Amino acid sequence: MSAPADLDAFRRQARAFIADHVREHYLYGSGQKDTLELAPIFERYAALFALDQLDALRARLDAAQDPNERESIRRLHAFALDQHIQARLRPMTEELAARQGKATVRWRGEDVPYAQVATRLRTLPTREERGELFAARGAVERAMDPLRGRMWQETWSTLRGLGYASYLEAAEATTGMPLRGLAAEMRQFLEDSRTMLEGPLDEYCMARTGVGLAQCTQADMPFLFRPTSDDPLFAAGRLLIRLEIWTSEAGIPLRGTPAIHVDDVPRPKKRDRAFCAPVVAGREVYVNVKPIGGVSDLAVLLHELGHAYHYAFADPALDVEWLYLGESSQSEIFAFLFNQLAENVEFLQRFFGAFNAAAIRGDLMLARVFGVRRMAAKLLYEIQLHEQCSLEGMDQVYADTLTRHLRVRYAPEQYLIDLDPWFYSAGYLRAWMCEAQLRAYFEGAHGDEWFGEPEAVETLKRLWGWGKTYRPEALLARLGLTGPDPAALVQDFAPLVSAG
Ligand SMILES: [Zn+2]
Repeated sequence: MSAPADLDAFRRQARAFIADHVREHYLYGSGQKDTLELAPIFERYAALFALDQLDALRARLDAAQDPNERESIRRLHAFALDQHIQARLRPMTEELAARQGKATVRWRGEDVPYAQVATRLRTLPTREERGELFAARGAVERAMDPLRGRMWQETWSTLRGLGYASYLEAAEATTGMPLRGLAAEMRQFLEDSRTMLEGPLDEYCMARTGVGLAQCTQADMPFLFRPTSDDPLFAAGRLLIRLEIWTSEAGIPLRGTPAIHVDDVPRPKKRDRAFCAPVVAGREVYVNVKPIGGVSDLAVLLHELGHAYHYAFADPALDVEWLYLGESSQSEIFAFLFNQLAENVEFLQRFFGAFNAAAIRGDLMLARVFGVRRMAAKLLYEIQLHEQCSLEGMDQVYADTLTRHLRVRYAPEQYLIDLDPWFYSAGYLRAWMCEAQLRAYFEGAHGDEWFGEPEAVETLKRLWGWGKTYRPEALLARLGLTGPDPAALVQDFAPLVSAG
């Protein structure tokens, strides 16, 4: 790079780094490469994330007056800061991955690979078995806690060295998300949506596990929300074909959109879960799929297609910060919007012939209520953790906060595992709120079958075209709406209470 904070050079390099990085993940995840070789990529672009680069960007940010210029440099700086910290953590990240790869959990005379415990928990029919396996894994996780703790200490001290009072302060400054304000809104949301937890979700839990939520523990949750894949209407071979029919009718054919590459080639080492890899936004976006069938698989596939369409229709002429950077919610909004079609009765009937569409909708909505409340509770815990920047007593805070808001008993063990960097929880929450408003907007204008209305699709294309330019507030404002508004979620979940 010619000079520190030569913005155009930085943008070019950042774009090239993202393309190389995303492509490597795609090749590995789709089973075309045996190993994930990130080290050479990080070496090649090390100058992008060096301390002098970071300082120069910070100086440019402090000097910027124009709001648009500020937002642009703020995003570039946040990206460099995140990568700078990741580079510092890399030896520990690699050690952790190696230990997790080798770890096994001793359970009932069997050595279960650490990575397979989550899947096993979904299938074990008795609470005793689930509880034991979960506890056995907890012991393995405890042994890795010191390493995870060191990674957070390193992160916090790096940020202090850069002049931030706390991780929370750094996150508010760099992500631009109003985290404390969001936490206050989420406290209220947790109050307002509590009845949904007590009534219908409790009955659902009783029917699926034999006991109510308050008798369940965290170990029972994967089983409670286990996916079902035996419905022939949602057979693996049918999912993509039906989605191709829908997208063709809507004028955005999945196989006829030049920037979207559907990778459904079966390869032995391919990841089961669908994922989207936007190598070059607007030009080269991969959707890796290996359908297993079932409504949950359909929901995941729709979610990833939502990301894919957003990136595929983004204007490639936009600068890298408007295409890729910004807050995580900005692509999740569109992923959730498609995801929610799995709850749309008309969509399920029309494209899958589902006669039980209303029941599917009810079940998915209950899982979503729980998911949103869980994320809201997690945000409250994360705010406390990252404000104090110390692990002292935080395992108990994690367990208490989640137990209080979910009724299910949470254990302290996962307090460093159930934790994503830079408040991804906040991004999800903002995306869920924004999506509920966006969906209500489309339904209000075009009815429940908005997903096939040319005008709705045209509006979507326009929104996609801006890439990640607009934050949720600005995106909603383009449609004359104010938000993200937690009331939209309470409203969205209201049918659960009236039906229950
Ligand atoms: Zn997503």
